[in-house]
Amino acid sequence: MSIETLVQQANQSSTPFNKESFDEVVMSTYGRFPIALEKGAGCRLWDTAGKEYLDFVAGIATCTLGHAHPALIEAVTRQIQTIHHVSNLYYIPEQGELARWIVDNSCADKVFFCNSGAEANEAAIKLARKYAHSVLDIDKPIILTAKDSFHGRTLATITATGQPKYQKNFKPLVPGFHYVPYNDINAVEEAISELDEGDYGVSAILLEPLQGEGGVRPGDVKYFQKLRSICDETGILLIFDEVQVGMGRTGKLWGYEYLGVEPDIFTSAKGLGGGIPIGAMMAKKFCNVLEAGEHASTFGGNPFACAVAIAVCHTLEKENILENVTQRGEQLRQGLQNIAAKYPEHIAEVRGWGLINGMELQADIELNAIDVVKAAMEEGLLLVPAGKKVIRFVPPLIVTEAQVDAALQIVDRVMKQVVG
Ligand SMILES: *Cc1c(COP(=O)(O)O)cnc(C)c1O
Repeated sequence: MSIETLVQQANQSSTPFNKESFDEVVMSTYGRFPIALEKGAGCRLWDTAGKEYLDFVAGIATCTLGHAHPALIEAVTRQIQTIHHVSNLYYIPEQGELARWIVDNSCADKVFFCNSGAEANEAAIKLARKYAHSVLDIDKPIILTAKDSFHGRTLATITATGQPKYQKNFKPLVPGFHYVPYNDINAVEEAISELDEGDYGVSAILLEPLQGEGGVRPGDVKYFQKLRSICDETGILLIFDEVQVGMGRTGKLWGYEYLGVEPDIFTSAKGLGGGIPIGAMMAKKFCNVLEAGEHASTFGGNPFACAVAIAVCHTLEKENILENVTQRGEQLRQGLQNIAAKYPEHIAEVRGWGLINGMELQADIELNAIDVVKAAMEEGLLLVPAGKKVIRFVPPLIVTEAQVDAALQIVDRVMKQVVG
C-alpha cells in the first residue's frame, strides 16, 4: 500500500475513543496526553478525532523508519507467515543474521538478544558482575554510573539511573552502584580510588554517549577518551548505553563513533526494531563471560523481532538514511538556533547530534518544557520533554526537509504564543 493510500484512508476514517473507559481498566503509571493515535504514515500521525500531527517523537526515538514503511510491512508480513516464535532451545537463523550485521557494523564480537532497553542493560550489568568475580576477583563489585542518566525501569536499572525521582518509593535498591557527575573525569578517578577497599572495587563504568532522558547532553570527547585509557589500565569495563542514541539516531550508526572510543560492552533497543520490541547487548573481548544457562529470555531474539530488525538495518543502508540524519539534523539545529536567538530570555541552548536534539529553556523562568510540548501538540506537532526544561526533537530518521521546515515554523509560532 502506498503512503498516499494510507493518508487517504486515515483522512476518511476515525474511531471514537473513550478515555474514561480506558482509565478505568489500565493502570495510571503514565502521565498521558489526552489524545489517542490510531494511524500513521511516514512522519505523520492521526488521532481518533481525525487530527493530523507531524511526529517528532517517533515513539521516543524508536520508529526509525517512521510509520507504515514498506520495508517494515514486508518484513512483518513475510515473517508472520513463515515462523514467528520458537524459543532459544533451538538455533534461530534470523538471530544469526542480525547479529552478523551488528558485528560487521560495530566494534562488537558477539550479541545477546532480549526485548527492551532495560533488559539489555540488565544483561550488561549481569555480565559486569560475573566479570568482576571471575576476571577481576572483586567480591563486592561496584558499577559507576552518571548523575542525570537514564537506564530503564527495572529494579537494577532504576538503581543504575542516577536520578532520585525514579528511585524514591522503591527502596531497597540493588546494591553495587555509585554515581558520579557526567563529563567529570576527576570524579571518576576519585571514586575508583575511594571505592577500592576490602572486598569492594569498581568493575565497570556504565554511561550514555549522550544523555537522552536526562536532557540531551552530549558526552565530552576528552572525558570519554580518558575513561577509555583508565579502563585499559585497570581492567574496568567501559559499558555504553546506546539504547536511545544507537542505530543511526546521531547520524553515525553508534553514538560512540562521536567520541572516538570503543566500549567493551554496549546496549541497543529503541531504534533497533523500528518500533517492534527488541533489545540487544553487544560485547567485545569479554563476550564469552556468560555461559550456557546463566542468562536467558523467552522472547529474546525471536524470528519475528529479528527479521524486522534486519529489515531496519538493511533499509538504513539501502536508503542512505545516515546521510539524511546528518543533513536534517543540521537543518533542525540551525532552525532552532534561529528561533533561540529571537527568545534569548526564554531559550538557553540548542544542542544535540544528528536527529536527537534538545532545546533548553532558561532555568529561572516559569515556562517548562511540558508547556511548549502541549502548545505544539495543539498546533499539530508532537514533541517530548527530556527533563523539566528541555524539549526533545527525535523524529523518524526518514524525516524530509519540508517536514523539518514545517516543524520549525510550528515551534516558532508556539514560542510566540507561550512567551505571551
Ligand atoms: C529508553 C531508554 C532505556 C530503557 O529502555 P526500555 O526499552 O524502555 O526498557 C534505557 N536506556 C536509555 C538510554 C533509554 O533512552
